[in-house]
Amino acid sequence: MSPTTIPARSRQLVFTERDTMVLSDIAIPPTGTDDVLVRIELVGVCATDLHLLAGHIGEPFPLVPGHEFVGEVAAIGAAAASARGLAVGDHVAVEMLLPCRACARCREGRYNLCEADDMAEGLSRGRQYGVNIPRSVEPGLWGGYSEYLHVPAAATTHRLPDGLPWDRAVLVEPLAVAYRTLSRARLSPGESVVIIGPGPVGLLAAAAARAAGAGRVIVAGTRDSRLELARRFGADAVVNTREADAVASVRAELGGLADVVIEIAGVADAQQQAVRLARRGGRVVLAGACGSAVPVTFLADEELLTREIDLLPSFLSAGGFEPAIALLARGEFPFAELVTHRFALEQTAEAFATIAAREAGVIKAVLEPGRVLPVEANGAAA
Ligand SMILES: [Zn+2]
Ligand SMILES: [Zn+2]
Repeated sequence: MSPTTIPARSRQLVFTERDTMVLSDIAIPPTGTDDVLVRIELVGVCATDLHLLAGHIGEPFPLVPGHEFVGEVAAIGAAAASARGLAVGDHVAVEMLLPCRACARCREGRYNLCEADDMAEGLSRGRQYGVNIPRSVEPGLWGGYSEYLHVPAAATTHRLPDGLPWDRAVLVEPLAVAYRTLSRARLSPGESVVIIGPGPVGLLAAAAARAAGAGRVIVAGTRDSRLELARRFGADAVVNTREADAVASVRAELGGLADVVIEIAGVADAQQQAVRLARRGGRVVLAGACGSAVPVTFLADEELLTREIDLLPSFLSAGGFEPAIALLARGEFPFAELVTHRFALEQTAEAFATIAAREAGVIKAVLEPGRVLPVEANGAAA
């Protein structure tokens, strides 16, 4: 299909209510002057999407999930084309955040903390694609598990470099999340970094830290296969915390504790351990989502007060897309190896089951919304 041929309807995967997903479709409206219509090539499946289906992140149903998307400009309004410098056929990443750009938080650059809550035009500002904009808000193209995505003026687009393969480009959002952790850490060249949690974002954070000129980079986790991969993403050393004492191992590697610790495992144990791995006056970035209402306790005097540890939560990807795209374009790390599984929209349940069961060496699964399975294959898969 040529990029200028827009179908009347877009197929999409919809979470209709908790624990229920259906394949559906919706009309694609004409593209307004301020808008872009993006044809989604690939969308990453994120643990967040599984939590959304389970009802752990509110109940914004019916919802089209998906916030890790890259695609191609299929149609663009005149005002959007001049404001964004984009044309039909350009490859783009679209940030998941739709900030208001006017509130105090947006104006200081922390648009991931947008405070606006304006339901004018049916679209609450400060919202996130694939997370909290229900499909009932016109035009219903607010998530990546869909052939097409609606991109209004509030959204942020980034043109992808020519020749950047899609299976590398699709990592832009998790890599942007990793870059935000480094900016929260105020990482300086030569500083030592420990990363806890070798999931996709943790592995990408190792690469980003290495590229940013970190000193020694250590990755800690519980699965040897992931830790071996971490070495290829910039780790100088790895620690399996089931087999070795993390504090002793880090001391042995660094001759002391770490300047910066980044926690991206999303469990309370890892957050507590992160504090213990940081040197006096060090910085600890907490970037792993633990799920709803998990209390984390620290020894206030012994671990925090007397050591002046900076605890720095890092939320989403704000400011991370530009360096992420630059690093992906350089291609120094085996990025595409992280994309271990590809599924069609019809196979979303299978993709979720694969991730939930940690099957078949899955690291990052992606969906190809434009791929339509033959009816027989679809039936056989059901
Ligand atoms: Zn994600
Ligand atoms: Zn705002």
